[in-house]
Amino acid sequence: MPQATPKLNAFPVFMRVEGEAVAIVGGGEEALAKARLIGQSSAVLRIVSDAAEPELLAFIATNGAAIHIAAAYDAAHLEGAVMVFAASGNEALDRRVAEDARRLGIPVNAVDRPELCDFFTPALVNRAPVAIAIGTEGAGPVLAQMLRSRIDRMLSPSLGPLASLAAAERLLPKGNARRRFWSDFFGGSPARAMAAGQLSQAHDAAVDLLLSNAPASGHVALVGAGPGAEDLLTLRAHRLLMEADVIVHDALVPEAIVAMGRRDAERLPVGKRKGCHTKSQAEINALLIELGRDGKRVVRLKSGDPLVFGRAGEEMAALRDAGVAYEVVPGVTAAFAAAADFELPLTLRGVSSSMVFTTGHDLKGNSLPDWAKLAISGATVAVYMGRSVAAEVAGRLIEAGLSPDTAVAVVENASLANRRRFHGTLADLPSLEVRADLTGPVMTIIGDAVAGANFERSEPLAAHRHEGAAQTAAEGAER
Ligand code: SAH
Repeated sequence: MPQATPKLNAFPVFMRVEGEAVAIVGGGEEALAKARLIGQSSAVLRIVSDAAEPELLAFIATNGAAIHIAAAYDAAHLEGAVMVFAASGNEALDRRVAEDARRLGIPVNAVDRPELCDFFTPALVNRAPVAIAIGTEGAGPVLAQMLRSRIDRMLSPSLGPLASLAAAERLLPKGNARRRFWSDFFGGSPARAMAAGQLSQAHDAAVDLLLSNAPASGHVALVGAGPGAEDLLTLRAHRLLMEADVIVHDALVPEAIVAMGRRDAERLPVGKRKGCHTKSQAEINALLIELGRDGKRVVRLKSGDPLVFGRAGEEMAALRDAGVAYEVVPGVTAAFAAAADFELPLTLRGVSSSMVFTTGHDLKGNSLPDWAKLAISGATVAVYMGRSVAAEVAGRLIEAGLSPDTAVAVVENASLANRRRFHGTLADLPSLEVRADLTGPVMTIIGDAVAGANFERSEPLAAHRHEGAAQTAAEGAER
């Protein structure tokens, strides 16, 4: 059952202020802060103070839309205003201003006195005509300012001029083409021209975009979703998810990440987990080609990095053969997430200077694969999908000459809140296969560099070494 979203006690709205009076009562710092904030709008500031400080006076002098009423406060000063700020720093006066405003039917904000406020002012990211207002209710202004600067960094400075251009040109494409138009507008050639300060080129590019009736061409992005934590998604992956018409995802990608796409995007799970309805690789390839040919923007979302045990090679070849455009967006692969969770240096000066990504499944044959030789000569080995072959991996490596005491680190659900860490030696590794309590994806890292990890938050693997060999339920549940 989804949990109910908590309710807001203050609802954000945008109030019309163009040419309207906004009254600010006060002459000090608080009044100046509000004047600066409201000064970002086209309102007329009416600043009431018989004792304005020099900085406020300087602000008024340089701001064409500010009027100074240099008189002791009187309720009449509020008349006709659309908003009132009680910002005198004097509690009794602020209270009087708030009461007068309320009597006149004007919404009032009293600085630092929430109990007297009809409304609160947001932290503001201003890309006029686009505004992003951030409110945190009781959580405080520091949080709001922190979020403000983060969002500010995310948005191109040319967003405002671009949005103005769109409004001035009445760019109104119809139907299905609309979202694609806007996404090309804000992400394509008009945006690039505007960012370079070339207004007329931006304008021409926008008109071109609007007039071109070329049928939409599809595009597939093979996107790495990272190891599971939402904030390990790249910004590019996030943007593509927001632009996608269709999201085709593996079972290992958590629901929270799939949900980060556009709300009305189609979501197609293609399985790859025991017990789920699973499409074959050929069916997935055919699906991607069909969607691309339909003109869809497709995100093919894979866990970790798409090029590491992700069968991206097959999908790229199929798309290439079919003439469907595609791109690849890297992601944080499970080995890196597991290493981070363990504070484990994958390369360690004087100990290990190379690393191997393997599945261990190729150890089943008679000949020893190349990577085993690398392991013996000191490489750090990351084993993907390694649970069901743990005993095989350990046995063959030991047989080939790797010390049974070689350090091993195992992470289940790397990067996620429910992650579990285990440490031990190569000799302990076979216990992984018989643990029924490991139900999430598991990453195993083997090598001397593992000894440099932090074992404070991990459990010993050895505790399970001889436990119930019949517990094979976990086996095969991976991937
Ligand atoms: N492309 C993915 C790997 C897919 S293969 C990547 O780059 O990470 C699936 C295997 O990846 C799992 O069996 C497991 O070994 C590993 N894996 C994926 N996510 C993991 C996670 N959060 N924690 C531990 N291992 C993970």
